[in-house]
Amino acid sequence: MRNILIFILVLIAIWWVRRALQRMREGGAAKRAHKAGRASGPERMLACDHCGVHVPESEGVRQGDAFFCSEEHRRLGARRS
Ligand SMILES: [Zn+2]
Repeated sequence: MRNILIFILVLIAIWWVRRALQRMREGGAAKRAHKAGRASGPERMLACDHCGVHVPESEGVRQGDAFFCSEEHRRLGARRS
């Protein structure tokens, strides 16, 4: 009976260590990507005030409080109220 308990404890320990190692690996990969400067977190998506398409903030055009997906839609102006 005691042997079974020890066996289960060992299984739990192995599972816990493997999970911890996996987390460390994922954390390290995320840190490396951050250092590379490409993946700086999820970018904010904004809806175009003309056509409503969602585009990353850096790819769109801003005009005051309004946001547009392209220079052309900025010229056409906000259509939605
Ligand atoms: Zn648009």
